[in-house]
Order: sequence, then structure tokens, then C-alpha cells
Amino acid sequence: DAKAGGKGRYVVYRPDLGEKIAAAKALEHRLATAVHDGDFELHYQPIICLANDQPSSMEALIRLKSDMATTPDIFIPIIERLGLMPALGAWIIRRGFEDSLQWPGVHTAINLSPLQIQSPDLLDIIDQAQAEFGVDPGSIMFEITEGILLNRTDNVRAILQGLKERGYKLALDDFGTGYSSLSYLGDFIIDRLKLDQSFLRGGRILLERNSTLVKGVIDIGRNLGIEVVAEGVEDAGDVSALRAWGCSHVQGFYISKPLPLEMAVAKLRRIMAQSTSRVAVDAGIR
Ligand code: C2E
Ligand code: MG
Ligand code: MG
Ligand code: MG
Repeated sequence: DAKAGGKGRYVVYRPDLGEKIAAAKALEHRLATAVHDGDFELHYQPIICLANDQPSSMEALIRLKSDMATTPDIFIPIIERLGLMPALGAWIIRRGFEDSLQWPGVHTAINLSPLQIQSPDLLDIIDQAQAEFGVDPGSIMFEITEGILLNRTDNVRAILQGLKERGYKLALDDFGTGYSSLSYLGDFIIDRLKLDQSFLRGGRILLERNSTLVKGVIDIGRNLGIEVVAEGVEDAGDVSALRAWGCSHVQGFYISKPLPLEMAVAKLRRIMAQSTSRVAVDAGIR
């Protein structure tokens, strides 16, 4: 390649197809081994209710223990392709349910992948974890993406209905990026919308057309009685704009990055102590 580019020219190094395939194979092998060896952990990121500045939920976000740089956006689709998502998904549910006992009164949000929700034994896995750890279903919120709802197969419908009947809550993740069809917001199945980070991050919230969209989503949520979480809140300006527009919840690095369990518990305690004193100040108690 470099030679073909002619003398004196800078040529960007591009791995050839063979190298790319070898790297992809190596990653697949590492991930299969990781599932087999249990080389994963759940980190937790708080979601804050703006009405009282108290934590509303802790979202479980999976990490590859031996390689924090390979993020779930990259490895979950590969694990799905390898057919290993049922195993990893069941582990995520059990661990998420177990960890949820660390923060009574605060919900635990667990992401479900598109393939996971199509698996006929999902409800059994959830029922088993619920019984094993004695978790209140009302304290668990499952996060699904818009694509899952478009796939209106009977099976997916039945599973979502089954979750609702058991008392679990459902959040629609990455709202506004997928095949947004608003119809499913009308049928009472969704408790929370999570406005995708792309509307906020990098100061985008200040762009006029963007802020119009954000305000519109907040209003839709409010009028339907659905919570709206703004994802990717990175500074105080984001929070005050969202607060002024009536957004009910925020999540993002400004409040906390996702943290390993023990650190997440410590962080939660600090947030609770801070917001209690702030509420007290607002209420003129101190
Ligand atoms: P998501 O569920 O929409 O999670 C939000 C992602 O945004 C997380 O990335 C989080 O670390 C990141 N994030 C949160 N606040 C900020 C912020 O203020 N700034 C920036 N730059 N980023 C922020 P993460 O952990 O890499 O996860 C990426 C995606 O992978 C998740 O998107 C979710 O779709 C998927 N995922 C993560 N954990 C799980 C899991 O346990 N099961 C399933 N099925 N999918 C998961
Ligand atoms: Mg999520
Ligand atoms: Mg999201
Ligand atoms: Mg996402």
C-alpha cells in the first residue's frame, strides 16, 4: 500500500483484511473465555430525581474485568452473535438482583439486550433470581431499546406483559435515536423514557433546535405521566436547563461515573447526605 501511494506521500497505515479478521477472532475468543470464566463485573451509575435531588435508581452497567477499555457497546453485540448472551444475561440479572439489596428504597435499573428479551426462558430466570434474593419486583426497572418494541412479535409482547404483571418497571433507553414511533407510549407499558445522550453531550443542549426537541420530549413525558431521564449530563449548566424545562430525572458524569459496587454505595451515601442538607436549606429548616 505504502509503495503504491507513490514516493514522498504520507500513507495512513491500514491493517489489511487478514489482520482485521485475526483481531476480530482473537476478541471473540477472549470474550467466550470471559463468559466461561465469569470475567465480568457490574458497575453502577446513579439516576437523580430533580424534584428532591435524591437518588431514584442505580443503573447496572457491565464491564469486562480484565479489559476495561473494551466497552459493552462493543462486546455485547459480539457475545450475542456468539450465542452466549443467554448465559451472560442470566448472570447480569442474578447479580443485579443481589446488588439491589444494597440500596433499599432506590430502584435498580438493568439493561436487557434485544436477543435477551426474545429468549423464552427470560421470565423463568427473573422469577428464580427474584425468589432467591427476595427482591421486590417494584424495585427493579428493566431498560429496553426502541428496536425491541418495534419487534411486535407475540413473544416479545408476552414477555413485556409478563414483566408488568409481576410488578417490574420498564424504561425506554436511548430514546430518540431509534425508530421512534410514539404509539407505544400510549399503551401504559413504559414507566420511564431515557432521552439519549446525543441530545445533550458536548454542549448540544444549548443549540436552539436541539433544546426544542428536548423540551418537547420532556413535555410528552410529563403529559403522559412518564418519567423522563436526561442521559449524559456532564455539567451544572445541563442540570439547570433541564430543571427549568421540567425534566424529572438526570444521569451523567456530572453526578457520577459508573462505579464498582462498593464505591457506588459510598457515592450514593454522599449524594443522599448532600441532597438532604440541600432540601433542608431549601425548606428553611437550617
Ligand atoms: P446505556 O444503557 O444507554 O448506558 C449509558 C452509557 O453512557 C454507559 O456507557 C455510561 O457509562 C455512559 N454515560 C453515562 N453518563 C455519561 C456522561 O455524562 N458522559 C458520557 N460520555 N457517557 C456517559 P457503557 O457503560 O459503556 O454502556 C454502553 C451501552 O452498553 C449501554 O448504553 C447499554 O446499551 C449497553 N450495556 C451496558 N451494560 C449492559 C448490560 O448489563 N446488559 C446489556 N444488555 N447491555 C448493557
Ligand atoms: Mg441503559
Ligand atoms: Mg442510554
Ligand atoms: Mg446506549
